[in-house]
Amino acid sequence: ANLKKYLSAQTGAQKLTPRMQLVERELQLAVKQKYFEGFEIYYQPIIDIKTNKIIGAESLIRWQNSELGPVSPAEFIPLAESNGLIIDIGHWVLTQVCEQINNWRKSGIYPLTFAVNLSAIEFNEPELINKIIHLLNFYNIEPGCLELELTERMIMQDVHTAIYTMNKLRSLGVKIAVDDFGTGYSALIYLKQFPINTLKIDRYFVQDVPNDYQKAAITTALIQMGHNLNLKLVAEGVETEAELAFLRQHNCDAMQGYLFSRPLPKLEFEKFLASNKSL
Ligand code: C2E
Ligand code: CA
Ligand code: CA
Ligand code: CA
Repeated sequence: ANLKKYLSAQTGAQKLTPRMQLVERELQLAVKQKYFEGFEIYYQPIIDIKTNKIIGAESLIRWQNSELGPVSPAEFIPLAESNGLIIDIGHWVLTQVCEQINNWRKSGIYPLTFAVNLSAIEFNEPELINKIIHLLNFYNIEPGCLELELTERMIMQDVHTAIYTMNKLRSLGVKIAVDDFGTGYSALIYLKQFPINTLKIDRYFVQDVPNDYQKAAITTALIQMGHNLNLKLVAEGVETEAELAFLRQHNCDAMQGYLFSRPLPKLEFEKFLASNKSL
């Protein structure tokens, strides 16, 4: 019942409340008329559990609006998906991240893997592959530095088309992660067919994992199954030492969460890298 509640909160409401209408208006304005004013990409470090080294980061969009203050992506991304703005926003995010990867490589920060979230609409857009080819060329990016995060539900909607698009992306050298893993109710047997590099275990399962018998059982099974399929396992939302200890004990490969760092603006991410903080 808990998981159901959590999932329906993630899928978002259908009816537009006055607040949503306001957010949508401001979003339209910011994207279409103000050249992404108030938008910024934050980077949340991803850490190798065995070495405690930063191996990459997840790129997360932030929006600070003059009327509304900060608006969470959990609020505006679903709206952007329903009105189509997500295509422009997604392209902006990819461009920002690729430009940043290029800058960081030039300043010697290399090699790290940068993850970018794709929404279903972007993933299914016919121009996606060409856009990515263009960005990789234009910013002279080693394709393996870019990892695209797709959710489990997204790829299960139309398995054959998803595999086709994923194979195209993989043929460019780009990596693919399955995000929010464990929440999609998918027939896990399907996983074998997908050209995936990484599984990201959803925060729901990680939260309180040592104390919750069911979550512990599921997390352990997810890690084991992922490893049997030669996939890298990343745990999301790691907040406590106890959670980390459990993940380490069960050989999870990498982790991301407030325990190590919140998502950071690019300059703070650079400082964080330079300080080479380890647990
Ligand atoms: P997600 O892809 O599952 O991203 C992980 C979310 O968990 C982020 O929320 C991150 O800030 C948060 N998080 C990380 N560590 C912890 C932790 O230890 N505890 C807790 N409680 N939370 C943690 P954020 O940045 O608010 O993003 C929410 C969702 O919005 C993302 O979920 C993703 O689905 C979407 N999103 C964010 N940026 C983008 C983007 O550039 N493009 C698209 N399409 N979606 C995005
Ligand atoms: Ca993600
Ligand atoms: Ca996630
Ligand atoms: Ca999510």
